[in-house]
Amino acid sequence: MKIAFIGLGNMGGGMAANLVKAGHAVNAFDLSDTALDVARENGCTTFTDAAAACESVDAVVTMLPNGAIVKSVYADSVIGKAPAGAVLLDCSTIDVATAREVIGLAEAGGYDMVDAPVSGGIAAANGGTLTFMVGGSDTAFERARPILECMGKAVIHAGPAGNGQAAKICNNMLLGIHMIGTCEAFAMAEKLGLDPQTFYDISSVSSGQCWSMTSYCPVPGVGPTTPADNDYKGGFAAGLMLKDLRLAMEAAEAVDAPVPLAARARALYEDFVGAGNAEVDFSGIIRTLK
Ligand code: NAD
Repeated sequence: MKIAFIGLGNMGGGMAANLVKAGHAVNAFDLSDTALDVARENGCTTFTDAAAACESVDAVVTMLPNGAIVKSVYADSVIGKAPAGAVLLDCSTIDVATAREVIGLAEAGGYDMVDAPVSGGIAAANGGTLTFMVGGSDTAFERARPILECMGKAVIHAGPAGNGQAAKICNNMLLGIHMIGTCEAFAMAEKLGLDPQTFYDISSVSSGQCWSMTSYCPVPGVGPTTPADNDYKGGFAAGLMLKDLRLAMEAAEAVDAPVPLAARARALYEDFVGAGNAEVDFSGIIRTLK
């Protein structure tokens, strides 16, 4: 297939490269010249205009920073510019309402489109091991699936348009909450005189066990190797966790869902990011609790 890929940043760069590795011809566009240089080295054909990149393709994939940018890119450069019948895939993390609005515009323009946000960070994007949670019609999902499978290890249909974003923000809301809970437990255990490794050995096989503890332990030297072992560098930036918690709060307000713990988690990450930690791994919030 010929696929246009728009948004070649930390995530999109590796994803576009994996489409090339799978044998697709990739037309790449980004506002950044550096990103375009890397895409060219990875075998993409680069363009200086998004609409031109979308001409005569079978599919368009986007991986962009936020909903406003996604909406403007689709309205200005994809819908009506990509050939009728192309399938459109937005893999960015954006708000549910904008995802549904953009898919509505695409469908009115005669396209099949899915929202397909990802779980997994830069390493998973580079390694082709992302998990995609996909919203859209059955037809759109079946058309998007083989493309997504070139970039991920799991592709799950979450329901109609916008449900991929709904799954993503509910998942990341839970992640933000249990990371803070895990950090609180380790910080308090230490103050109570409990060795962190001993607490891990007990809690990781007891009822307090969770992913933030056993797969992403925020304490250096305890559990598997994580960003905590690299001075909280790499991994999932606190600024992105804050972005996802803000999206979760917006969605909660829109449907009147009470989320008191998420509200507190957002406030804590706002303080953490506001103190200059936007690039620090999100598990680094343990430093503020010690
Ligand atoms: P990034 O900032 O590294 O990349 C975004 C890219 O989009 C940049 O290269 C930028 O130049 C480009 N861009 C911005 N506006 C554009 C436009 N109008 N036209 C073309 N290109 C444009 O961000 P990222 O880390 O790659 O994240 C991308 C998306 O993936 C975000 O929605 C993010 O929330 C989500 N996400 C990121 C991670 C992660 O660990 N980084 C994990 C899961 C999901």
